[in-house]
Amino acid sequence: MNTNQRQRYQQVILSHARKPQHKGKTNLIHRQNQGENSFCGDKVDLTLMLDETETIIEDIKFEGAGCALCLASADLMAGAVKGKNASEALLMVEDFRKMVIGETEFQAPLEKLNIMQSVAKFPMRVKCVTLAWHTLKGALAGEEKI
Ligand code: ZN
Repeated sequence: MNTNQRQRYQQVILSHARKPQHKGKTNLIHRQNQGENSFCGDKVDLTLMLDETETIIEDIKFEGAGCALCLASADLMAGAVKGKNASEALLMVEDFRKMVIGETEFQAPLEKLNIMQSVAKFPMRVKCVTLAWHTLKGALAGEEKI
């Protein structure tokens, strides 16, 4: 990754962290889960609204506190899985985990998620960017807490 690319990624991360597009709570709450990353102090509180068949994620929002990486990743995650069905979203959780450690990459229109690969060198930061995804997995599994 060159310097320009790194700066551009940095900007994308900061803009999602400062002006998240999916912050708040869904109107109806069909699934909910809280995740915490004690290494960094990140917290994510996810709410999901499903369709009547309980398969499609109609809406997903998060509230959270933490570092820019964690919040940006939560916002990107919400944008990526909104409108997807639950099983597809669970596959994306797995893909995201593999992408962060460099084993795979997301294709268009989800290629924006690949910017999180830039933290792979820092194991502590990996926890920041995967928190929202782990929390999503727990929410879809119907777990109270992860
Ligand atoms: Zn963090």
